[in-house]
Amino acid sequence: MARGLPRTGSALLQSTAYHGRVSSECLFCRIVSGELPADVVHREKGIIAFTDIHPVAETHVLVVPERHIDDLRHIQDSDAELWLRMACVANEVAADLGHEQGYRFYVSVGSAGGQTVPHLHIHVMGGSMRRLPV
Ligand code: AMP
Ligand code: ZN
Repeated sequence: MARGLPRTGSALLQSTAYHGRVSSECLFCRIVSGELPADVVHREKGIIAFTDIHPVAETHVLVVPERHIDDLRHIQDSDAELWLRMACVANEVAADLGHEQGYRFYVSVGSAGGQTVPHLHIHVMGGSMRRLPV
């Protein structure tokens, strides 16, 4: 459990639910829309962060833009503010979960880069890790 953070189903999270366009084919879009459940640890305009369903570290959170972007190769100059804010959310979630001393931040880019869910996301991993990503 994330300490001191709003949980899925809280009034705060419901009030910030996303009502924009999502792809019904995309797993993370379905989480963004609320169609699929997730252990949400942070939500703000344009960004959601939730626990990885198969955590490989004590903390393993995914920071995800609400808008569908396939992968990092598809961001544009106009996404600069979004990308910066995603990085700040990664820092904030890591700190909130007790990893002020540091954490692993990584992004898979495309299937050749190991990406299995084609919706941009940052992995935030902290504490003991059962295995490192290859
Ligand atoms: P990647 O392989 O870098 O694209 O990362 C995708 C991550 O999404 C993996 O670590 C999966 O465990 C995680 N994942 C897949 N389905 C879900 C889900 N329904 N909820 C949360 N995390 C998921
Ligand atoms: Zn998507």
